[in-house]
Amino acid sequence: MAENDLQQHYENLWQKGISLLREVVTTEEERSQMERYVPLFTYHAIEGKEFIVGLAEQFQVDWLSPKLVLPLERALHSAGLPEEIHVRFAVKEQQGNLKISTPSPELARARSPEAQRVDSHQLRGMPSTMPLHENYTFENFVRGPSNSFAHAAAIAVAKGPGRTSYNPLFIYGGTGLGKTHLMEAIGHYVLDHSQSTSVCFITSETFLNEYVNAIQNNSLPAFREQYRKVDVLLMDDVQFIAGKEKVQEEFFWMFNSLILYHKQIVLTSDVSPKNLNRFEERLIGRFQQGMVVEIESPSYETRLAILKFKAQATQKIIPEEILKFIAENIRSHVRAIEGALSRIVTFMSMQDDIPLSIDIAKNLLRDLIEEEKTIKDLSISDIMNTVANFYGVTRDDILSPQRTQTLVTPRQLAMYLSRKLTTRSLQEIADEFKKTHATVLHGAQTIQKRLDVEPELKKSMEDILSQMGRKASDIL
Ligand code: ADP
Ligand code: MG
Repeated sequence: MAENDLQQHYENLWQKGISLLREVVTTEEERSQMERYVPLFTYHAIEGKEFIVGLAEQFQVDWLSPKLVLPLERALHSAGLPEEIHVRFAVKEQQGNLKISTPSPELARARSPEAQRVDSHQLRGMPSTMPLHENYTFENFVRGPSNSFAHAAAIAVAKGPGRTSYNPLFIYGGTGLGKTHLMEAIGHYVLDHSQSTSVCFITSETFLNEYVNAIQNNSLPAFREQYRKVDVLLMDDVQFIAGKEKVQEEFFWMFNSLILYHKQIVLTSDVSPKNLNRFEERLIGRFQQGMVVEIESPSYETRLAILKFKAQATQKIIPEEILKFIAENIRSHVRAIEGALSRIVTFMSMQDDIPLSIDIAKNLLRDLIEEEKTIKDLSISDIMNTVANFYGVTRDDILSPQRTQTLVTPRQLAMYLSRKLTTRSLQEIADEFKKTHATVLHGAQTIQKRLDVEPELKKSMEDILSQMGRKASDIL
């Protein structure tokens, strides 16, 4: 192959590998992490027997290598990369100038205290921290009555981390209302305004995974040590550790020690502390000690203000009438509003010559508006009942340990749909099904595979979905 063709070949291979990598993730959590990580890759090239993937910073190499090298390597091999070529992450300083470094998660821990102090910038990007979304800043957050209290508290904390009585700051509210955005805005502000403050942004699910790994690898002391260095701990979606007693206990001690040293803690959750189920009382007590603020659904005026702000950023001139139409009809949450806007913008970019009328907009958004009417988070028991009904069995059958094929399919399908259609964690689903989480995972994976090769099963699933007011595209 000529040099150019070869380059093109590897470029295609890379694109294909990345999309395969995105496909293998199944949970919402993994998906959102992947969205953050993939843009961090700055470079890729084959060098000898290695496929080098570049990242801007050493801590990213340390943090991502154990998580992503193998899955990425597998994806690239499936995409056609010769099996003998291995993937390695390395720091890439500038265009075409690779500073190769051996990835080692132990690196940061093994350093002497002096070296750690010197390397304070790197420390600020703690090994555990997830990268902050660059748009989630205070500047990009639109205030309104539904969020102004939370916003004010977040600003106060960002300006004086650990120095206000808002410790912890506990932000709660429904999905898509801006909790993560506000939390990351605190992180950006602190990093921009203080040279020496370290920030760790992590979801509670990632924290849990790290904790489990630390136990398996006998590295609990290092795990703890790493969090002791944090000045500002931002932990997103704490509700995920519901029912996980061990990790709650670990978190409890970490929490106490951080507060004792006037470190700042910010937490988000989909419910208020007192409504957190299966949480230790003493932990709930701690959550309520600082400041608890709610973000509510935005009013019409706030929705319109958010739309105008986001529309401005797209550099398209969208008629006011259409923005008002969206604000009136998409009410559930901000993420849905963004979805509607992006559809309009895509249409405008493709159809430069057609002026956008309100009728066209209505058409473009019809299904989103329909969805608004039916939006509610399906409960696991709704799913069990609908699936059981469809197959002519009972809910008790689904919960029973019996393994006849007539029960296994509905049971596994209900598990699969619970994974796809609810925001509940694997353990919560397992609890509801009275099974182990490995059984649920296996069940969901079995269905996933069968759906590819069994059109009848797929058809049944679509019928079940439509009985629940959903479409197959909702779960892809
Ligand atoms: P949550 O964590 O509450 O589920 P997110 O913080 O992920 O919600 O917000 C969902 C989307 O809506 C993000 O893209 C975020 O930028 C946007 N968003 C939410 N609230 C606002 C706001 N007040 N101003 C601007 N964008 C917002
Ligand atoms: Mg969130």
